[in-house]
Amino acid sequence: TEAAATADALPATPAAVAPERDLFSKFDALIAEREALMATGVRDPFAIVMEKVLSPTLAIIKGKETILLGTYNYMGMTFDPDVVQAGKDALDNFGSGTTGSRVLNGTYSPHKDCEEALKEFYDTDHAMVFSTGYQANLGMISTLAGKGEYIILDADSHASIYDGCALGNAEIVRFRHNSVEDLDKRLGRLPKEPGKLVVLEGVYSMFGDIAPLPEMVAVAKKHGCMVLVDEAHGMGFFGPNGRGVYEEQGVEADVDFVVGTFSKSVGTVGGFCVSNHPKFDVMRLVCRPYVFTASLPPSVVATAAISIRKLMHAGNKRAHLWENSKRLHGGLKEMGYTLGTETPQSAIIAVILEDQTQAVALWQSLLEGGLYVNMARPPATPAGTYLLRCSLCAEHSAEQVETILGLFKAAGQAVGAIG
Ligand code: PMP
Repeated sequence: TEAAATADALPATPAAVAPERDLFSKFDALIAEREALMATGVRDPFAIVMEKVLSPTLAIIKGKETILLGTYNYMGMTFDPDVVQAGKDALDNFGSGTTGSRVLNGTYSPHKDCEEALKEFYDTDHAMVFSTGYQANLGMISTLAGKGEYIILDADSHASIYDGCALGNAEIVRFRHNSVEDLDKRLGRLPKEPGKLVVLEGVYSMFGDIAPLPEMVAVAKKHGCMVLVDEAHGMGFFGPNGRGVYEEQGVEADVDFVVGTFSKSVGTVGGFCVSNHPKFDVMRLVCRPYVFTASLPPSVVATAAISIRKLMHAGNKRAHLWENSKRLHGGLKEMGYTLGTETPQSAIIAVILEDQTQAVALWQSLLEGGLYVNMARPPATPAGTYLLRCSLCAEHSAEQVETILGLFKAAGQAVGAIG
């Protein structure tokens, strides 16, 4: 039998067997650091449970009504009645899941409709939906640039962009965050012949700063590169049609690929890439993170499609979100907090702290007061930088923003983060 064959293959004497190495031992330092922090009596910032979600801006956490200021629900679409209804209808009509890849049995009419909605929203010839934004970056970046070609990326790029580089076979070149000069210099050193892809983000999500896309894209084009912009945090909010920072900054004609996600302004889950490249559809055959995974549930793409179409006409929500961003940024700055950007640049406002214990104490004090913000720490942030990341929603009322500021004042003074 097979079992007997396996047993036969084992070494005869136990002494010849190497001692088992615990593969988890490399995480010991991290485990110890976490245990030490928890021993101080703080709540675990990475173990929050939403017991009930009341609206895009309110949830029950540990029995307490809590304002949500740490979600990516920028446009507040998660409870939109049309969006919710579309999901219910799709569940009734198509069932709970596709049980297959997009290229086999996993393309239902809602997937095609969702791609149509993206083409309308972005005014592009092509749109391809992936199961997450992470996979969209993984797939596009690893597939577009192959062996002997180059990917040039901002040093502060999202993990999914780095992982796309790691999955593929291209040569990787990093340039200093948002430095047009460094991008130009590094491109100038590369051989002219091979294909090159410059990868940029509209909004960088840790500090909430935006990219100088016109200058970046001009430099990329000067050196003969194609350009991919990740608009995960720009979609819905920037530009007259909500397409992203690249629309607001007027570089649509020179951007070859836009990657985005449904997990932020769209309010569900999924990822995509849109493009006008005439050969774009070949990606459906060669892009492994598209081919070798199951497609999204029909209810998910149905909610995404209607949400995207509604975001095309969300000018009022965009205007209100800007008001919220300006007020929160101005108020926090006035209290003496150090923020990720000098002026409000996006819907993300990052409060910077240098001490982990103080950062966690402030985070916990805010939570006890009824406010949830996102905690970010290395390696997601630079060494020694702890962020309480506030991300605003178009559904936060002006009154809620005032309440948020009051909570930041009281908690900041209580833990000594501000005077
Ligand atoms: N790109 C960026 C810039 C992101 O911030 C994120 C998610 N935080 C992603 C891609 C991945 O998106 P998703 O949640 O759909 O996997």
